Amino acid sequence: MLIARYRGRFHKRGWLPLAALAVFLYLLPQASKAAAEVSHTISFPGDREQVFLVRSEFPVSAPVTELLMPNWTPGSYLIRDFAANINRISALSADGSGVSLRKISKDRWQVDTGETDTLVVDYEVFTPDLNVSTSWASQLFSLINGASVFLYTPQTSDLPQRVDIVIDKDRGEYFTAMPATVDGNGFRAKDYDELVDSPIAVAKAPVYQFVHQSQEYVLLNVGENEFWDGEQAVRDVEEIVAETQKFWRINPLERPYWFLNFIIDGKGGLEHDHSTVMMTGRRQMRNRNDYVNWLGLVAHEFFHVWNVRNMRPAALTNYDYQNEQYTSQLWLAEGLTSYYDNLIMSRAGLITPKEYMELLAKSIHRLETTPGRLLRPVEEASLDAWIRHYQPNANSLNSTISYYTKGAVIGFVLDTYIRKASKDRRSLDDVMRKMYELYSSDPYGNDALRKVVVDIGGEDAGQLLQSLLTTTAEPDVDSALDYYGLQLNRGAILVTGEPGEAPLTSDLGVLWEDGHPGLVVKAVLNGTGGSSAGLISGDEILAIGNERLTRDNLESLMTSFSPGEQTTLLVSRRDRIMELTIKLDVAIPDQFSILLKSGFDKRDIARLERLLGQDPRE
Ligand SMILES: [Zn+2]
Repeated sequence: MLIARYRGRFHKRGWLPLAALAVFLYLLPQASKAAAEVSHTISFPGDREQVFLVRSEFPVSAPVTELLMPNWTPGSYLIRDFAANINRISALSADGSGVSLRKISKDRWQVDTGETDTLVVDYEVFTPDLNVSTSWASQLFSLINGASVFLYTPQTSDLPQRVDIVIDKDRGEYFTAMPATVDGNGFRAKDYDELVDSPIAVAKAPVYQFVHQSQEYVLLNVGENEFWDGEQAVRDVEEIVAETQKFWRINPLERPYWFLNFIIDGKGGLEHDHSTVMMTGRRQMRNRNDYVNWLGLVAHEFFHVWNVRNMRPAALTNYDYQNEQYTSQLWLAEGLTSYYDNLIMSRAGLITPKEYMELLAKSIHRLETTPGRLLRPVEEASLDAWIRHYQPNANSLNSTISYYTKGAVIGFVLDTYIRKASKDRRSLDDVMRKMYELYSSDPYGNDALRKVVVDIGGEDAGQLLQSLLTTTAEPDVDSALDYYGLQLNRGAILVTGEPGEAPLTSDLGVLWEDGHPGLVVKAVLNGTGGSSAGLISGDEILAIGNERLTRDNLESLMTSFSPGEQTTLLVSRRDRIMELTIKLDVAIPDQFSILLKSGFDKRDIARLERLLGQDPRE
């Protein structure tokens, strides 16, 4: 399909000269004649970085009006207390006279709006963090995520929300999936939810567009540099889009979809109805594994258009921006999306079958090396996203399991189970499409997917799913792999890639802190020698046996000691030197690998081809 440099066909806006800013600042509120909408104008102070100046105008009808700043943003389950970033706030009535405003809680203000029909609020928002869930104001580029920037009132959150941005041309242009206003000068979201769901990028950045089956798409590469090939990236994005649309067979998009890609040495992505914000490394495209990670991110975020944006757990239907909203279904929303992002890449021919198997082995390795999988069922891990997944600490690996990782492995095991039970006539793909058919307009309850699984895969498949979600039973990956003539090698791997008898390495059972010259314990894994020896996070390990232990000789020393051997550790704990006795473990390899079983035959090839969308021998 057509791939071209951006030609101004989409919702991109130019800059307003500084003179316009000056005029704007002297204008009195225009409120009384305004239509029933909320309007927000953003500008940048000339003398500071990391700050947005916001003027919001709200229609009001009560003598007292409450203003609120969200505490979190959908898709990222963490209380972020965005109100903490408001430096200054003041209020005016429609005629420009000051009105009394007082803070009543961490995220609320009360304003005496008296007789006025419009409340004008001027506030200054500091942007301390640059990530996909927050906002960032700088000369080089800016990102506006609505929940962290815009105030709302409960009475006006259903009204259209207009946004104007006042910038000088040195900052570039602004880009968003939000529809343009009729006058062409700003954007207009149909309500506060859509405003929050419509991130805005401000930057000088190349834009690439393509059309797939009459649907328009745009890739914005903020920070594109000599290490990033924008033309190649957009070609690959188009393959992902085509494969994902083919998967779902129905296109819910109502206007151009934007991939807002920030090549700024950040990471992560956040999904929206008509866009996604992604962050990536500046040299990410120069390393094959890193680039596959980025493609996986694209596939993941785009899959979310269906799975979580349009087909949503009931608990996330009406957003409460002030409080946590709990769902046990993030293993479906995130985990199954993670299962499919790799499959979409394979089916689009962007990764080889071998690369797919490496990614699958990686997920299984991550699951099986996390002791917390034996403590917390994945549905509970989902409910605890707010206090565990998004707030990791030294005990996280022991106390919880990632619903991304376990959800993806459950996806593989369940998919295989359905394929096997139906003699390859049905698969998890059918389950997902049926879910979409049933729940794209009405949100789904906690038992919805299990019922669809029973419907498509049979009662036993439903029971398997139930036990994988509500207990800590381990997903049987070995049986699943066996169905395709494959096996997992959990042991040491020789350089040749064949399973074999590599020398065993011993291990302390800890993770190390980065960024310290010495070996500082970050986390101690349950059930290991380190745990029994009494190590705790923060311990600096100085020596093992009579040998000084350093980052440089860690690996060779661990190979010199035999697993099972008892020895001593010299430890510095809060500057006190102590000696601990440890029985060393067998080191688990850094990775597992998936291999062909003997007897791998044509039937296995056919099964893998149906799963991967390509001949596994390629
Ligand atoms: Zn996701």
